[in-house]
Amino acid sequence: MALPTTSTSVTFPAGATTGESRVLAAPVLPDGRSALIVAQTPFHPLDHTWPDQPADTGTVRVGGVELAVVDCVTAAVGPDGTFAVAEEIPVRRGDETWAWLALHVVEGGAGDPADLIGATAELVVDAERRARLSAAHTSCHILAFALNAVLAPRWRKEVRTDSLGRPDFDNLAITRSRMDESGSRDDYRIGKSLRKKGFTSEGLDADLPGVRDEVEALLAQWLKTDADVRIEVPDPALTARRVWHCGLPDGDAHIPCGGSHLGRLGELRSLAVDLTMDADGGLVATTRPERA
Ligand SMILES: [Zn+2]
Repeated sequence: MALPTTSTSVTFPAGATTGESRVLAAPVLPDGRSALIVAQTPFHPLDHTWPDQPADTGTVRVGGVELAVVDCVTAAVGPDGTFAVAEEIPVRRGDETWAWLALHVVEGGAGDPADLIGATAELVVDAERRARLSAAHTSCHILAFALNAVLAPRWRKEVRTDSLGRPDFDNLAITRSRMDESGSRDDYRIGKSLRKKGFTSEGLDADLPGVRDEVEALLAQWLKTDADVRIEVPDPALTARRVWHCGLPDGDAHIPCGGSHLGRLGELRSLAVDLTMDADGGLVATTRPERA
């Protein structure tokens, strides 16, 4: 079976949830599930290297049948035709000698998905689920900037700064980031190496309620400005290096990002934050956005 040799074009960074495109291939995955590959898709696949935002789900109508898209994963085709899915991909994400593909994992329909190759597919993302995930992802990013601002006095040495000029606690300490339809959770490691870089962890546990209140107050201020949120897209290819921007009162906050987002902070009515310490002395930061 011929697999595409150019990367899937993606339209989710601009907020698209529908699209039409030709079916290029219909591989059967190593786990036995069927998948469809199209030239251009609104579906956001899970990023196997930093799996923060879950995959979109939805439907695809093609060849007179409607199939459920139950998952969307990243795959890649090497210069020698090697086909690999997610964690099996042996090269760095975005390697330019490989084609990077969104695989729509489909269920339903009686026929052989291979018969659909060449047909035009109508792709429809579950827009409500997408909107919730976008709200969670935007919340996660503005939380990072607010946390950096509030924790800034705890740094005794110069370290790399975020795009607003504050010590980048988020970047230096984050180990894991996950969104779901209700919000986000970021895990930060506060260990010897962070302390060596100059972070004061003494008393953080006791200060957490105050830190949390300051973070929430800052976020509430930012939401009120209804700041513009956008994704800078250098190239439509799935693994292009996209950058999230938000025009905060403190400046243009920006951070590399492969996910989907709201268009404005005013789309959030409120943003609740919780900060706790985990068993290893790490910080766990969660958000619960409420959409307007
Ligand atoms: Zn992101």
